[in-house]
Amino acid sequence: MLVEVNAPRFVIVVAPPASETAANLDSWHQLTGLMRFAILTRPGESMWWSSQSLPGSPVVIDWDTAPFLSPLQANVKAALEALDAQPYESILLFYDADDIQEALATRLGTILIGRPTDRLPDYFVKDLPEAVAAVRGLRSNSPPGYFGEVATTVISRGRPLASRGKIFPRFPQAMADLSSRTSVRALGRYFAKADARAKKHQLTARILRLKRQVHVHDRYLASVVGGALDHIHQRQALTAITRVPPRPSATIDNLGTLLTDALHGRPLAPFLELALLQSARDREKQRDLSAVDREANVAGAFECSHLCDGAHVLLFDDVLTTGNTAAECARALLRSGASRVTVIVLGADQNALAAPHYARLCVRPGCTGVMRIRFNSGNNGCFWGCSEFPDCGRTAVWETVLNALNEQNSRDQLITEGDISF
Ligand SMILES: [Zn+2]
Repeated sequence: MLVEVNAPRFVIVVAPPASETAANLDSWHQLTGLMRFAILTRPGESMWWSSQSLPGSPVVIDWDTAPFLSPLQANVKAALEALDAQPYESILLFYDADDIQEALATRLGTILIGRPTDRLPDYFVKDLPEAVAAVRGLRSNSPPGYFGEVATTVISRGRPLASRGKIFPRFPQAMADLSSRTSVRALGRYFAKADARAKKHQLTARILRLKRQVHVHDRYLASVVGGALDHIHQRQALTAITRVPPRPSATIDNLGTLLTDALHGRPLAPFLELALLQSARDREKQRDLSAVDREANVAGAFECSHLCDGAHVLLFDDVLTTGNTAAECARALLRSGASRVTVIVLGADQNALAAPHYARLCVRPGCTGVMRIRFNSGNNGCFWGCSEFPDCGRTAVWETVLNALNEQNSRDQLITEGDISF
């Protein structure tokens, strides 16, 4: 699930060794008092955890080492059963970044403590005190999340979930040779169509609409970009702001429109220079190409319109996949004298998660459509509408369909070794 858009009531934590825990006991006491907890301990350490008299009387379970296939999933399922909890109302808190793939497959909300990986959890925190703050935020009206995701998730009363969140660094391999003079920041995640989370993720839906439609003014996306540029400018002053230029054959400049909207009325507006970067030649759409072809497709594809000696240039793009396009634009800017390039993207593309795709069927008798994320053309707010629109005009508020989709994601769907007959 997407942790920020749900209302979790349970936490399952894969505990670190007891020997590393003693120094943090205060944080553990704060944490387990916040929700119902199950603690999966290292084998043989459940007695130690039980003797700590943690608030809320968490369920303490020794990690079962028997499952050979998907051990994390099997242990999480046992913890869900002990709590009588379902995946869509539970968070998995874990420390080992190598567990990320299996953790995502449990379809619980995921909070990783430590460092982010290429595959991002729903949220990552650097240490246990940050985890306490994140879980506390889920209890109150300040859900944790990536800045772009919480600020563009509009609930039924037309308000984003939150106006702050994490802006996180990315290190695409394609930019490794530029690392001393460039940096990349992502405002959220982007899920490709093949990913089961794509259908419930408003930031992804808004990015897709930005890519596809003409003259979209999304005030939520604009406020996210504007806020992020102010944040960066306060730390290292910007001197020019531009975006990946549209292909010469394109008839619209959606990124340019969004940047213009984002800077409207802000002190940074005079720094906007859409003409700074131009396409030197036409190019294919990157999404249709393999990783190798993507690099060749954009090599030498951009040029600078004038010298930008010593400038700190902000380069904006919608989605970061391999990073080849941003890298090639950064090279053109650095060649023309820029001293530094900071890249901002709305979403960092995630490797697709293999999990069942659920759909909420339209409730109108006889209609074969499914409910899709749609946007109110007046206020840009989000709702669910039938895929057969305009033939079918059935709509629903955000929480109604989200909850229905969640409930199809039960713990019985978690297949463990014991469920497979050989
Ligand atoms: Zn319908």
